Formats: sequence, C-alpha cells, structure tokens
Amino acid sequence: MGRSKAGLRDTNDVTLRLHNTLTGKKEEFKPVEADHVRMYTCGPTVWNYAHVGNLRAFLFYDLVRRHLRVSGYRVTHVMNLTDIDDRILDQAMHAGTTITEYVKPYAQAFFEDMATLRAEHVEHYPRATEHIAEMVDMISTLLQNGNAYIADGDVYFRIASFPKYGELSHLDRAGLKAGARVATDKYDKESVSDFALWKKSQPGDEKIGASWDAPFGRGRPGWHIECSAMSKRYLGATLDIHAGGVDLMFPHHENEIAQSEAANHAPFARVWLHSEHLADATGEKMSKSAGGFTTLRDLVAAGHDPLAVRLFLMANAHYRSRVRLSQEALHASAEQVRRLREFADRVNRATLTDADHAGLVDRTADVRAAYREALDDDLNLPQGLGLVFDHLREANAALDAGRFGPLNKTALLGLIDDVDAHLDVIRAEEPGLADEVERLIAERESARKSRDFARADRIRDELRERGIALEDSREGVRWRRVAPTAAERS
Ligand code: AMP
Ligand code: ZN
Repeated sequence: MGRSKAGLRDTNDVTLRLHNTLTGKKEEFKPVEADHVRMYTCGPTVWNYAHVGNLRAFLFYDLVRRHLRVSGYRVTHVMNLTDIDDRILDQAMHAGTTITEYVKPYAQAFFEDMATLRAEHVEHYPRATEHIAEMVDMISTLLQNGNAYIADGDVYFRIASFPKYGELSHLDRAGLKAGARVATDKYDKESVSDFALWKKSQPGDEKIGASWDAPFGRGRPGWHIECSAMSKRYLGATLDIHAGGVDLMFPHHENEIAQSEAANHAPFARVWLHSEHLADATGEKMSKSAGGFTTLRDLVAAGHDPLAVRLFLMANAHYRSRVRLSQEALHASAEQVRRLREFADRVNRATLTDADHAGLVDRTADVRAAYREALDDDLNLPQGLGLVFDHLREANAALDAGRFGPLNKTALLGLIDDVDAHLDVIRAEEPGLADEVERLIAERESARKSRDFARADRIRDELRERGIALEDSREGVRWRRVAPTAAERS
C-alpha cells in the first residue's frame, strides 16, 4: 500500500562502522565475500534457564544480524548450544540421567525464550555433542603441530606455542602467567595458563553419556574447542564477525583464536564484538553462580510484556554500556512500545488532507536518514530511537492540527518500518487484534442498542484491561492504545 520496504539497502551504499575489540577501534566493516556475512556467536550453556543477562547478549546478536540484513547482506549466522560442560555433567550425575536428557528442557526453554522475545531464527544451532568428530580432528592437528600435549591423559593447548596469545584482550603475557584468573588446580600442565582441549573420562562419565573415543584416549572435549570446531564446520576457517558477552573475551575467545589459528593457519575472526553486561538491581553483574538472577519467565510472571523486555534489553543502553535491570526501566520501555504502536495506529488510520505538511515530509526523511546513520555507527540504537521519539512529537502535532497528507503518511510509515526492522515490537501484536477489537466494538454497540448496559460495560472493561481504550465520538466509536491497567499488570 505504497509503503517503502524496510531497509534492504544495497551494500555498496552502506558504510557500517563496528567497534572491533581486536584493534580497540571503530572500523569500516567489509566481509570477505561481498554481500555475505559469516557470523558466529557464543550461545547458551544449557545447564539451566537463561537469565536476562544472557538474553541481553542474545538480543545483541539479533540486532547485529538484523542490521546486517537491512543493510543488504545475506547472513549465515551460527549460534552454538553448549551441552557439554562441568555443570551439566554434575547435574546429570546428580539427577541420575544422561547429559542429553538433562539438557532437553533447558534447550527447549532457550528456543521458547528466543521466540517470545522475537529474536530471528539463525541458520545453524549446532550442539557440542553432535560435533565431537570435528573437535577430535582439530585436537589431533594441534597435537601434530606441537601446539598441544598430553599430560596424564588430558590434552592441553600449549600457550607458549602461540605468540599472539593475549592480543584480543590486550593482556601482557608476563601478567597472564601470574594472573589470578587462571585455574591453577592442575599441576601437571606445563604452564598454569595452558587450557584443556580434552579431558580424560572420569568414573561415571560413561553412564551419563559424556564419554567419546579419540586417538588420544577416551574422554570429552573442553569448552573452548567446541566453538573453534563448530564455527569451522559451518563457516570455514575465517569468520567475518564473532560476537559474545564481554566476560567471554578472556579466556574463552582468546583460547578460540589460539586453537583455530594454530590449527587452520588462517586468521580466525576479522571483527570481534563484545556486548556489556546486564547488572541486577544492586549493580552487580547478573550471573547464575552468584545466585540472584532473573529469567524471562520470572518477568513475564510478574506481568511484564516480553516486548517491553526486548526493547529494554536492546535499546535502553548502547551495547557497549552496562545496563541495570529495574522495574522503572522496564515500565519505561513498556511505555515506549505503547507510544510507538499508538503512533503507528494513528498514522495508519489518519484522515488525510489533500495537501501535505511539506516541512514534516522533509524532516521525516532527515530523521529516517539519521536513524540509519546511528545504526551504521556501531549499532547505536538508543541514539537512533531518541531521534525517532523526538520526531513523533512534531508528527503528532501535525496529526492533531489536521495537517497530514498522503506523503506524510508514506514517509512516516517508512520510518516506522525502518525502526521495526530492528525492534520488531510495533507490528508484532497478536494477529487479528485489530479485527477482534472492531468485532467487540460492534458487539458493544448492539448490546447498548438492546439496552444491555452491563454487557456493554463488561466489553469496555475487558478491552481496557488489554490496553485498549474506547472513545465515543461523533464519527462513532474510536479506539486507542493506553497503558494496561494495574489489574492487567498484576
Ligand atoms: P552462558 O550461557 O553462560 O554460556 O552465556 C551465554 C552468553 O551470555 C554469553 O555471551 C555471555 O557472555 C553472556 N552473559 C552472561 N552473563 C551476562 C550478563 N550478566 N549480562 C550480559 N551478558 C551476559
Ligand atoms: Zn564460544
């Protein structure tokens, strides 16, 4: 209906600038293969439900992915599921089940949470348990090349064989050796910072299905090798983008680089993106081991709209800034969702005048360009959104004044489409909602005609609880979005 399709720019016309942790600078982004981006993102360890901190990282990946796509790129995106991990083994052992059975509900919950938050489905979700052969291959290569050694049945990566170690996190290696963050429990390693590629089977591992054959002995892979092997399997030796939460930079990502580059003799990831933490109400990084964590299910049970959670996690702060979870911030995001939707409804249903408000047409075009520029500049969604909200005031004033023509409508719908290409909260409402509201309005009218006022009031109240207010006007009954009532929230 005359709406310009969101995004879909030609990659030749786009200059994306991304902050690359490797260089510590914002750089112009160009993938190896023109128009195609290979992206790997560290996914969930499915030993429990994801907390909203994890979800912030996953929605950051969704933002990167969507912006690449609206910029005209084809994206092959891989997000792994870590289903072999010390905590998973402990829990499965405890529950008397296999690791595969143990992770099932949590893997399913992860996909449900992603769907509830409207994260796009990515191309591949590989699991560690399904890629043991690739890991064994890579470890064999590392052993052959002298980058790995066997000590007491375990296989370790020899950090001394990889001079670039520490480049991503800008660590100096002298400090690293004495560093307090490296595990020092294994005295048979050549160096305290060498890390395990393969751990020999322990009693009980067989029973929980966590033990595999390998030329270097029966055992299971370490965590880091999972990402190196699975990214290579789906994306090849060199990735355009590798992303993860900032806590993974060291040692996980540093170890991925060492393994992959030592095995493949090719650069591993050209751009590294790291998203900052979500803090809890006390300002501490949310983490499961620290105990005080909140899941999406907790927030939904407390009455929060998942789309407000989505907007909060994606747009409350730039991805490289810490953000603190609070009721107030979630309510503010819910209000933003409501304002965006109400505005989109208003534009869609506006009575058009013959003449356009020419100044508004121009300024909408400017805001649309500025929004895109903000996103092109290291994915600055909060800045872009701020510009859009400022603009809504002027547009609402034009609608109030009845100065609103067809070009105004087209331009503003184009802006809404651009914004929703990232946020996906405006047009994401229940399918058929508008039809249902219209049907209920008609039902209320006929109840009133037959003087069944109790029924008419019930319909009005029911809609009000769902965040729809009815207004009787001379042209008939109109509806608009309002904040849901307390009854709805509780
Ligand atoms: P995990 O399930 O622990 O493997 O983590 C999955 C993702 O969540 C990783 O990218 C982590 O960096 C990220 N993550 C963990 N805790 C937080 C947090 N509090 N805030 C933001 N991201 C986090
Ligand atoms: Zn990883």
